[in-house]
Amino acid sequence: MIDIGLTDEETQFRDSVRAFVDRSVVPNATRWDIAERYPRELFAQAGALGWLGVGFPEEVGGSGGGSVMSAILNAELTRGSAAIALGLYVHSTLATAAIYHLGCAEQKARYLPPALAGRKVGCWGYAEPGAGADISRVRTRARREGSEYVLSGAKIYITNATFADFMVIVAVTEPGQGLKGMSLFVVEPDMPGVAVGAPFRKLGMGASEMAEITFADTRVPQDNRLGPEHTGFIAALKVLSLGRVASAATAVGLGRAALEEALCYTSARMQGDKPITDHQFVRFTLADMATRIEAAWRLTLHAARQVDAGGEFDCAAAMAKLFATETCTHVCERALHLCGAQGYMRESNAQRFYRDCKVLELGEGTSEIQRETIFRHIGR
Ligand SMILES: Cc1cc2nc3c(=O)[nH]c(=O)nc-3n(C[C@H](O)[C@H](O)[C@H](O)COP(=O)(O)OP(=O)(O)OC[C@H]3O[C@@H](n4cnc5c(N)ncnc54)[C@H](O)[C@@H]3O)c2cc1C
Repeated sequence: MIDIGLTDEETQFRDSVRAFVDRSVVPNATRWDIAERYPRELFAQAGALGWLGVGFPEEVGGSGGGSVMSAILNAELTRGSAAIALGLYVHSTLATAAIYHLGCAEQKARYLPPALAGRKVGCWGYAEPGAGADISRVRTRARREGSEYVLSGAKIYITNATFADFMVIVAVTEPGQGLKGMSLFVVEPDMPGVAVGAPFRKLGMGASEMAEITFADTRVPQDNRLGPEHTGFIAALKVLSLGRVASAATAVGLGRAALEEALCYTSARMQGDKPITDHQFVRFTLADMATRIEAAWRLTLHAARQVDAGGEFDCAAAMAKLFATETCTHVCERALHLCGAQGYMRESNAQRFYRDCKVLELGEGTSEIQRETIFRHIGR
């Protein structure tokens, strides 16, 4: 596929990521999926290649580039393995970005260099047993005592929790105020009272690891609070909105991988003396898949360019995320269908894509939350 709309610099960057992914991720993706363990060395490799610094300015040790570069990176990584991309994405686009956007100079100096180099890995925790799509239901409490906060509560389904070196945690600092009473904290796993559960077993994203984190009267220095008290989560909504563009790109990458898989299988698979692409149904299905993915990529690029231009991008990001993730689910289902029984086998790529895709509609705000956001912009 030709990437219409990319500059020469963006095309070169895409090609370099693609070459690495084809060489180092694609051949291992099935093995990592089945092992259900994240290859942690990839953080240091991605750091050395400057990929963890994409979207962060050079003054803080980043590689520069903006949302478009970040979208290209996410789409290419996901072509190789959605689970690998998810771990890098949570570390970079959520945990590290929260510190960059909301942290003070001292916090940035402490956490950004090792995070951007991939020596330390972050996780991002807002979901709780009682708080999912509705963020206002977060109940983890951060009670102030002198120069410290005492955290108690639990975060669930937290990607990278099993090996994270720093955790960006949403907690209630002023009960009864909803989103306006929440703050963000950087918690370290060796602080007393922090416990990380065993990795959850999941339908897809096998190689990514997620677990529950509990806080039993964990004392966190006030210096570890990101931004002013009570306003942290409102400020973090910007980080989440940026994450939606990256999430849309992830869905495009996975859709492209599924399309490639279906194209390979259907052009090689002979029934009688003809490849199955001789059937109009097969050709039309592939053409529809390609068209939807291309539309999703253009919405994603449009949102990313709006971010980079410094304009308002909430609605464009929500549209890109909604359309790209629902497209991805559709395309992965069609790819599995076209790959027949061979695609249904445990070691085939098609079944892995099919299992991996659904979560993209749930994370970073479910499709319903994106629709609510879009309606807020278009409604009268
Ligand atoms: C693989 C994976 C990785 C994850 N990683 C992380 C992570 O790193 N950090 C983290 O904090 N969380 C993570 N999560 C959790 C994720 O944030 C939540 O799954 C997501 O917020 C949705 O919450 P929920 O699953 O509790 O769904 P629920 O809130 O129980 O929602 C269930 C359904 O009801 C719908 N619904 C709920 N409320 C409304 C409403 N007001 N209007 C319309 N529809 C509604 C939802 O759209 C959804 O379809 C991860 C989840 C998965 C599966």
